[in-house]
Amino acid sequence: MRVGIDIEGIVQGVGFRPTVYRYAEGNNLTGFTLNTAKGVHIQVQGESDRIESFINQLQTNPPVASKIDSFIIKQVDDARFEKGFTIRHSEFIGLTKSAGISPDLATCPDCLVEIFNSKNRRFGYPFTNCTNCGPRFTIVRDRPYDRKFTSMNSFPLCPDCSTEFTDPKDRRFHAQPNACTSCGPELKLILSDKREFKEDNLIFQTTEQLKKGKVVAIKGLGGFNFACDPHNIPALEHLRNVKNRPDKAFALMMKDINEIRKYCDLSIWEEEALLSPSAPIVLLRKLNNLLDRVSPDNNYLGIMLPYTPLHHLLMSEIPLLIMTSANKRDEPLAISDEELQSFMDDKIIDCYLTHNREIIHRCDDSIVHFLGNQQMFIRRSRGFVPAALSVKNHSEKTVLSLGANQKNTFALSTGNSIFLSQYIGDLTDFRNYKYQSEQIEDFSRLLNIDPQEIRCDSHPAYENYREEALHIYHHHAHMLSVMAEYDLNGSNVLGVICDGTGYGTDKAVWGFEFLNIPPNNNRFKRLAHLDYFPLPGGEKAMREIDRIAIALVQNEERLPFPSERIKEIKTLINENINTPQTSSLGRLFDGIAALTGITELAEYEARGAIMLQREAELQFDETAERYLVQLIQEDALIKIAYENLIENILMDMENSKELSLIAWKFHKWVAESIIEVLKLLHFEKVVLSGGCFQNLLILKMVTALLEENHYDYYINTLVPPNDGGIALGQAYY
Ligand code: ZN
Ligand code: ZN
Ligand code: FE
Repeated sequence: MRVGIDIEGIVQGVGFRPTVYRYAEGNNLTGFTLNTAKGVHIQVQGESDRIESFINQLQTNPPVASKIDSFIIKQVDDARFEKGFTIRHSEFIGLTKSAGISPDLATCPDCLVEIFNSKNRRFGYPFTNCTNCGPRFTIVRDRPYDRKFTSMNSFPLCPDCSTEFTDPKDRRFHAQPNACTSCGPELKLILSDKREFKEDNLIFQTTEQLKKGKVVAIKGLGGFNFACDPHNIPALEHLRNVKNRPDKAFALMMKDINEIRKYCDLSIWEEEALLSPSAPIVLLRKLNNLLDRVSPDNNYLGIMLPYTPLHHLLMSEIPLLIMTSANKRDEPLAISDEELQSFMDDKIIDCYLTHNREIIHRCDDSIVHFLGNQQMFIRRSRGFVPAALSVKNHSEKTVLSLGANQKNTFALSTGNSIFLSQYIGDLTDFRNYKYQSEQIEDFSRLLNIDPQEIRCDSHPAYENYREEALHIYHHHAHMLSVMAEYDLNGSNVLGVICDGTGYGTDKAVWGFEFLNIPPNNNRFKRLAHLDYFPLPGGEKAMREIDRIAIALVQNEERLPFPSERIKEIKTLINENINTPQTSSLGRLFDGIAALTGITELAEYEARGAIMLQREAELQFDETAERYLVQLIQEDALIKIAYENLIENILMDMENSKELSLIAWKFHKWVAESIIEVLKLLHFEKVVLSGGCFQNLLILKMVTALLEENHYDYYINTLVPPNDGGIALGQAYY
């Protein structure tokens, strides 16, 4: 018997063909396998039960980093005479180039053993990789995934590497980025006087600089990171200063799980994520305040493990490092030595450790966190992109979805595949906008998708708004992003959107919304929302959040701010100068944070909300008296009133109630107002999305209440609930 098998998915660059080879040999089958433009093609010949066991092995035990989307078996009539099983050279069949490019993979255990084994020829080599690990997306220029189409094309294989590359039994068989000390990329350390450090102990020299309190830029997979010793306060403060981030949390890299346990609580699920080939930053609950200056505003630390051999080598000399994106605030991540030179000139960094393997695609580190065993994204980027999302796509057309303005990602979709881009960032910075345009071009070419339709957010002031595109309202897209994950198109669903900012059908700034999309429909109805309050100064109120507190409180005497300031802001409101109406929950959080004296300034987006969450997490007083929810029903629209809430908070403040208790009661009020609205609307299926659901306390309270009341609820797990998921929602429309 002879069968042909076509496999699609992430099957190239992940050791698929060597695995096929081993299973075929093990089952005494003859035939061949090869990479095609669409995936992997196999032909096997032999006893039918042996073929069956071969297929079974391949399906149940494919290479760890692979992902099979389709597996099609066809009987081939003509038996052939072949000597054994062979792996053939890649063939280009047809014109499609849809075969999945693998995301970048963290260093595997086998490679790790080699770089720390003094007898191995790769001892101490920072670019060691194999078919199970190493750079992928970040070095790919074109399809198919072959060395000549990657940034490894400038490094011809030495005889030893070449032998590995051509031996089907070797772990490095067809490992496209394969390299060693004699043929691969090299490190370069540039010291403060722009002098290149010429000796060979570069790793040691770099960690010496870090231990001395220097800020060092280090080239990673998708870009450079700024690194420094988190215990060295002057270094840390310098970094805060130059990045213009006085309080926002920095990510850390720690040597191993044991090091992490010194600072954080760690569940088995979190540990598994940290150790996975995607190696994201995981937000972990702090155990103590040893690293408080790293994330002063919240109870979490964002931590990742070393994910390249270079990281492992550095971390063998120093147990933990700040590892933050190498950029000035909100700019794209730096990937070239030229950018680093300018950082040196501006005295942002003291030195940098670079190498000559070019980064083709910028890719920021991904960020996840956990609610129990459920992983959720804050940012989906390195280690996940460009894998297709396993989501049912209802559009017959090829579509480009441009996403939102903040935390931008875009999506290209065709057939049943939706490809979400890496994190692009805030498009109001023209460099990010340019980066998006470049990446759209790259993705179209790599995936061979020429979009027939373009979709974008309805906000006409968004950078990527296009008149000719299909416009989708922001919160509609948030809701669709969850429906996409569970393919809820045929259900009558209620969307509970807890968000910061989105353009509404009445041009107001929407945020806390209850939307219904009837089955198989593309329209939404707004059934409830947070009652509007004025946002004096518009955008300005996102930063100067005392403006919101002033807008929320009628009686000026009860406001804890200078009277001049109150007068100034009240004038804006009364004379309706640049004061849009908003139902934003994010801004309500900010306003309460300012009112309760937590902070008047949000130097970064949602800082007030984040600090309010930190306070609330200190309290678990289920018996505490609640802030009563008050709903106003007007025709077919329900409004959540906030006057009572504000009055109660003011009273608690005047009665010197603990800040953490007030914060906790406010969180509870948000959760309970959702349930109260749901009780008036009759839906069984509820989807939750929007940036406020990054607040784990809110998510915990809301999901607990939904469970108590027997709702079927759905949350984002494949994309962030924040604006990073908007493109998926647009694609699912
Ligand atoms: Zn490896
Ligand atoms: Zn070599
Ligand atoms: Fe949003």
